[in-house]
Amino acid sequence: MSKIWLSLAHMGGSEQEFVREAFETNWVVPLGPNVDGFEHDLSQWLSTHCDQEVHAVALSSGTAAIHLALIMLGVSKGDEVICQSFTFAASANPICYQGATPIFVDSEPDTWNMDPILLEQAICDRMKQTGLKPKAILPVHLYGTPARMNEICDIASRYGIPVVEDAAEAMGAVYDGRYCGTFGQYGIFSFNGNKMITTSGGGALLCHTEEEAQRVKFYATQAREPFPWYQHEQIGYNYRLSNVSAGIGRGQMRVVDNHIAHRRAIHRLYTELLAGLPGITVVEPKKSTIFLPNYWLTTIKVDSNETSFSALQLMQHLAKADIETRPLWKPLHLQPVFSSSPTYVNGVSEALFNCGLCLPSGSMMTCEDVMRVADTIRSMR
Ligand SMILES: *Cc1c(COP(=O)(O)O)cnc(C)c1O
Repeated sequence: MSKIWLSLAHMGGSEQEFVREAFETNWVVPLGPNVDGFEHDLSQWLSTHCDQEVHAVALSSGTAAIHLALIMLGVSKGDEVICQSFTFAASANPICYQGATPIFVDSEPDTWNMDPILLEQAICDRMKQTGLKPKAILPVHLYGTPARMNEICDIASRYGIPVVEDAAEAMGAVYDGRYCGTFGQYGIFSFNGNKMITTSGGGALLCHTEEEAQRVKFYATQAREPFPWYQHEQIGYNYRLSNVSAGIGRGQMRVVDNHIAHRRAIHRLYTELLAGLPGITVVEPKKSTIFLPNYWLTTIKVDSNETSFSALQLMQHLAKADIETRPLWKPLHLQPVFSSSPTYVNGVSEALFNCGLCLPSGSMMTCEDVMRVADTIRSMR
């Protein structure tokens, strides 16, 4: 029996044609026709579930996309940015690149994402403490479950604070009929090897105007001014996606909807197979038509009062059967590197971190693979 991985890159078949074309035409450079084509495909695809204009800019990573979004919003030294605590460190690191301070806000139990009530408390308290409004709000759609964007965007617009939406894990997740990543002033995707689609490494910044997209491309290519010589009036970055990587992305866009459907099917199958198992809950948001997660990773909660084993012990048990699982993201307010950041917590993310586990969920998994994982969980005593 072969190893079952958490989430593997999954090629659709046409990626190599685009990559070969890049080689044959010698576009083995940053930029080129695949980059334009990939951006076009992404923007078209997004426009099917968004009633606003969307312009995707292809970048070297999701982290770079967050960084450029903050730069576009003028986040700089001494500013504060409100960030969801329950997420991967890459959500908050770019805040620090800018010399700003992340302010961590805990999650609400239903979506595991930014708690709107705590968010508003945090905004009011920061304004009281510093006399300044936070410069941006950064919610995350963790594991592909949409955050409560209606509430978050209402609060954001009431206080006049822009939203940067970290949809790195949420490509294809829908909230209120609209794709995650298209709600904020800026949204970001990641195309790292384990995300919904991959370019081997890459990301995108989603903007709502052509002018913003042009400005992002300017910063992403060393802020080079339109002169015959290399003229620079601002600090720039080397953050564009390569034409070879974008070729992989174009191939992946042909199968993205299959990938999303497959991950949702895996979640349904886990839910069926693990039903009735005492102390194990397959997680999904409260039944409501407003949330349509992509189930990037299926997650479970282990109630050790009922199971007599912990999530970490279950992880070790599965590892012995050659099945890769992973603890949930450790909340950033508990990470040593962010220990000096102000935090607004309610205990939700810490409790989830202590009892949760991510199950293998890649779009290459077969029904038999999912059954093997479920059987191995059932065999744990
Ligand atoms: C993967 C991820 C990122 C970073 O994306 P990269 O492409 O790896 O830089 C940011 N935020 C979240 C929530 C992620 O899961």
